[in-house]
Amino acid sequence: MPRYNWLEAINVTEELLTEPKTRLPVIWISALDCTGCKEAFIRSFEPTALETILNFISLEYSELLSVASGYQAEEHKESIFEKYKGEYVLAIEGGIPGSDDYLTIAGKSVQKEIISAAKHAKAVIAFGSCSAWGGIPAAVGNPTDSTDVVSILPEGIPVALVPGCPPIPEVIIGTLLYVHFHGELPELDKKLRPTAFYQKTVHMTCHRKPFFDQKLFAESFDDEGARKGYCLFKLGCKGPQAFNFCELIGKDHCIAAGFPCIACSEKSFWDKGGFYGKKKRG
Ligand code: SF4
Repeated sequence: MPRYNWLEAINVTEELLTEPKTRLPVIWISALDCTGCKEAFIRSFEPTALETILNFISLEYSELLSVASGYQAEEHKESIFEKYKGEYVLAIEGGIPGSDDYLTIAGKSVQKEIISAAKHAKAVIAFGSCSAWGGIPAAVGNPTDSTDVVSILPEGIPVALVPGCPPIPEVIIGTLLYVHFHGELPELDKKLRPTAFYQKTVHMTCHRKPFFDQKLFAESFDDEGARKGYCLFKLGCKGPQAFNFCELIGKDHCIAAGFPCIACSEKSFWDKGGFYGKKKRG
């Protein structure tokens, strides 16, 4: 498999790369999240989070990653909203609770904070399946009446969804960097996902697909087929339904580690059970 090239993935030429440019201000708001998306962000290899922050984006606010906290961080966030009106990217992570009883930010309604910040953002990017689709907080039962970002925003705000639980680190950074280099969101599909990263199913690009085509399947996690790296379809793999970039990034991921894909980038993947508890396919 050819090595992943982030410049090609987001259509950045050498000239564009070396053009002097102000770093893109980013405000990262966490709603009902597990911090997994931010954890993913700092684990990117291509480019690394460090290269990204030093050269391309200015991460002005993140509850997890900012050095400052409390009043200092909140005041800075407010100043960025003013100073970079219309220029900052609003990154959202986590499901949005239906009531302030479940989450506030510095005593303010998270839902109102997101709506007001989104109105003056250059673009909104929902990172992770929780902000993109409602995800785990909105799973059946949904005690916090959680929902996705698009459901709460007024129409007309440019929004991209970058689902995954968590999303692939390079896809998070690639989407942000596209905005930095091109000044707008990348091309999106009907579900508002960047087509560069969500055009193909995991199955279409899977390194185990030659085994699928030959009908060579692992029947259990420790049989001879599993040891030979056969297809995991009979163990519940949902790669055929999952639009994601895992196999194209060219490094370790679930299927490479011997785990069937649970389609974490798809809507309601949690309610559909992943592969847990499902019977083997015959
Ligand atoms: Fe498709 Fe999953 Fe088999 Fe890969 S392991 S070929 S994604 S069914």
